[in-house]
Amino acid sequence: MIMRTNIKRVFGLLMMMMVISIASNAQAKKTVYILATGGTIAGQGATEVTAGYKAGAITVDELLSAVPEIKDIANIKAEQVANIGSQDMNDQVWLKLSKRVNELLNQDADAIVITHGTDTQEETAYFLNLTVKSDKPVILVGSMRPSTAISADGPRNIYNAVATAVAPESVGKGVTVVMDDKILGADDLAKTNTLSVGTFQNPNYGPLGIVYNGKPIYTRQSLKRHTINSEFDVTNLSELPRVEIILSYSNATSLFVDAAVKAHVKGIVTAGVGNGNLTTDLQNALEKAVKNHGIAVVRSSRIMTGPTAQWDEINDDQLGFSASWFNNPYRSRVLLMLALTKTKDYKEIQRMFSEY
Ligand code: GLU
Repeated sequence: MIMRTNIKRVFGLLMMMMVISIASNAQAKKTVYILATGGTIAGQGATEVTAGYKAGAITVDELLSAVPEIKDIANIKAEQVANIGSQDMNDQVWLKLSKRVNELLNQDADAIVITHGTDTQEETAYFLNLTVKSDKPVILVGSMRPSTAISADGPRNIYNAVATAVAPESVGKGVTVVMDDKILGADDLAKTNTLSVGTFQNPNYGPLGIVYNGKPIYTRQSLKRHTINSEFDVTNLSELPRVEIILSYSNATSLFVDAAVKAHVKGIVTAGVGNGNLTTDLQNALEKAVKNHGIAVVRSSRIMTGPTAQWDEINDDQLGFSASWFNNPYRSRVLLMLALTKTKDYKEIQRMFSEY
């Protein structure tokens, strides 16, 4: 009789402990918002083995049903911000996304994971790196294989992104991309292969870390200004200044600079040869664009690594140009768009390119 009462007591105690532990686990879980924008990660192929597919074909809820495990590590809330192939990413979606991220991080979000096509992921990541006003984790994730493919990389990448988002050590790292078990910084992000799942790299500085057994391991951090230390603010903006990229190559003429001037662009980024060098024709046309039309010109390079440095073969001060240092043409375009919301002075723009 006494024995039975004791067993009952022990059983009751165990049940209570289980309830308390489940409740405290639920409480301890961080809230992660998944904002979906489309891309291959939401893509559907005709069969499990074909390479061709339609990007942005499935919704965020369908996408997340492939990784139910994320619910064990976070309270997940999901929103569909857009559903496009990221080749069609544009200023309006950028502004909407940045404002929504800031809103949610000011409310109940502990971290944000954004699903995105890989084609322009590096541009969106850098835009957010400069316009998010919080040190909470903001992580972009994509995939190279559609959700219907054998060995689709999307579910693993999403799991790793959420696991990285909830880790306390991910605070203050700026906007990152988590793919192929790597954590990559937005300040040096490049898609380097058209098909490989390991396409993203930080070619100048190396990755920030890796994800191992569902935990991030950081090995470096960015020394560039970003997020809470950024001077840029898009809260009250409904559009961004127009900036185009113009490439230099053997025999490049002034054709595209002339077109840009006619279109009243506010800025031009050059993807020059070598250390941002330009054909004489291009350089003369760009000098006129600055001096006669007040267009801001930033010199960058078509080379993947190394700085486009000031004071090398081109005298930027004489021409009124700024040099991009470690920003490639795509990030340079993002930074120049934001810079032009504050100034047109090439020296001030040069300062920004040295700091971001
Ligand atoms: N072009 C599509 C996009 O960037 C698919 C590429 C991808 O996501 O890998 O959204």
